[in-house]
Amino acid sequence: MADLRSDTVTRPGAAMRAAMASADVGDDVFGDDPTVLALQERVAALFGHEAALFTPSGSMANQVALQTLVGPGEEVLCDADAHIMLYELGAGAAYGGWQSRTWSPAGADIDVDLVASMIRPGGNYQVRTRVVAVEQTHNVAAGAVIPLSTLERLRAVTSDAGAFLHCDGARIWNAHAATGVSFAEYGALFDSISVCLSKGLGAPVGSLLIGTADRMAQARQIRKRLGGGMRQVGILAAAALYALDHNVERLAADHERAERIAAELGGRWGGTNIVYIDCADAPALVEVAAEHGVLIGATAPRTVRLITHLDVDDAAIDRVIEVLGKLL
Ligand SMILES: *Cc1c(COP(=O)(O)O)cnc(C)c1O
Repeated sequence: MADLRSDTVTRPGAAMRAAMASADVGDDVFGDDPTVLALQERVAALFGHEAALFTPSGSMANQVALQTLVGPGEEVLCDADAHIMLYELGAGAAYGGWQSRTWSPAGADIDVDLVASMIRPGGNYQVRTRVVAVEQTHNVAAGAVIPLSTLERLRAVTSDAGAFLHCDGARIWNAHAATGVSFAEYGALFDSISVCLSKGLGAPVGSLLIGTADRMAQARQIRKRLGGGMRQVGILAAAALYALDHNVERLAADHERAERIAAELGGRWGGTNIVYIDCADAPALVEVAAEHGVLIGATAPRTVRLITHLDVDDAAIDRVIEVLGKLL
């Protein structure tokens, strides 16, 4: 099977499992797990921030981050196709008590003047905008990368308005691989960043939230309240440390493979590892492709999504192009 449904389907290989098996561990709720502490310190430093916090998922990292930045009855601005709007089951409303307003069109091409005009200072009638949230890379925009210059302008307008800038950086690794912009350059622009270890990096579980030491101390309490305090979780942090050593620079190969799929099959490619293809009947295409050993996902009645990752090699891409080329 060539499984291109997501970059979350990767399985840890023998070397990653060996690193997990030999990890030094302790009770991380007590702050005693040396491998978790090493991972948090390493990633905080990578992005030029004071501290980081390991979480079981990217959704939790985003929601915990936002709870440190925005209170009940306050507001988050983001685009209409953001992960925090579409794929986190209304967690901001259910647990954070904040409201959202979205801008359109969604994607990496952000109209900064529009966003600036939407920020509201609060008062006796108007809700206060606390956070502007962006997604790097943007999943629904076919993995498109928000340009650094756009982020710099967003940083300026949010700072001017006294609002925070949060980055859902689940795939910020891919943005770095595609543009060469350093993690520190990205890190300098945001008040908080969430990054996924279980997408392109290929670790089995986990995300990190990155920010100031004070904010991470608060995030630690919120994580515990949500049931995200974990114990000998150094086993998972060891997988992440292995991934940081071995799986960041190789992301460029995933991008080349995605580009090839888009070129051969006529899809939308945002410059990283995601391709969307329009077709007559997406559920039917998904089903027949699976019968031919190619797993893809339907994201809309007439749209399928393919994501490349470290368990998809060139032979698998040949197969995908052959099978889907015929079916399309
Ligand atoms: C995968 C993803 C997340 C986090 O998802 P989890 O499944 O909760 O780990 C957050 N944002 C984006 C853009 C993602 O693609």
